[in-house]
Amino acid sequence: MPGEDVNRAMMGFWEEVYRSSPPWDIKRPQPAIVQLVQSGDLKPGRTLDVGSGAGENAIFLAKSGFRVTGIDIVERAVEIAKSRAAKQRVEVEFRVGNALELHSYFSEGEFDNVIDSGLFHALTNEQRPVYVSQINWVLRNGGSYFMLCFSDKERKFSGPRRISKQEIEETFSTVFKINYIHDTVFGDTLHRKGAKGYITNASKL
Ligand code: SAH
Repeated sequence: MPGEDVNRAMMGFWEEVYRSSPPWDIKRPQPAIVQLVQSGDLKPGRTLDVGSGAGENAIFLAKSGFRVTGIDIVERAVEIAKSRAAKQRVEVEFRVGNALELHSYFSEGEFDNVIDSGLFHALTNEQRPVYVSQINWVLRNGGSYFMLCFSDKERKFSGPRRISKQEIEETFSTVFKINYIHDTVFGDTLHRKGAKGYITNASKL
């Protein structure tokens, strides 16, 4: 079982959501991720999608010429992602694993890019520094990290933690240069127009 350090309650939560329809599964890639490719900020290369869920972002990137690996802690999520990729005849590697233990699956500096759509905002304060060190480990020098999260401007409804720009800066500036944190929308099935989010673009120092 991956992830001794992901507590049982959290693990139970993630597994449970995949028994029905997770609100983040919008059956298409997140518009903010599509935008990153269109703007050229996210450039084709060896790319890791951490917390890849139902796989839509990873599949989109693979279709756009990226070589992609998706990793998720829930087996069912990985099965869904694999079957969606297979249906569309897109080549993506999806595997079960813990984002807090990336060093046990991958080599140091293996990836040009890491994308995170909706994982960081689900981590506890204690997990954050571990997560940052793991992302830092798998990225090559100068590699890019892109993170989409709910922002503190989103006041309505339940859902994940709301993240402030200051928190992002404090968490990541130890090992990353933060290029920007922009307002964006996090698409989900609960908010008619999506939730208010931030997209962060950071480079490994
Ligand atoms: N990226 C997807 C899913 C977002 S939800 C999307 O944009 O739709 C967050 C995902 O992270 C869930 O699929 C959950 O199972 C996964 N996850 C949670 N904790 C994790 C961990 N420690 N390691 C890997 N995946 C994790």
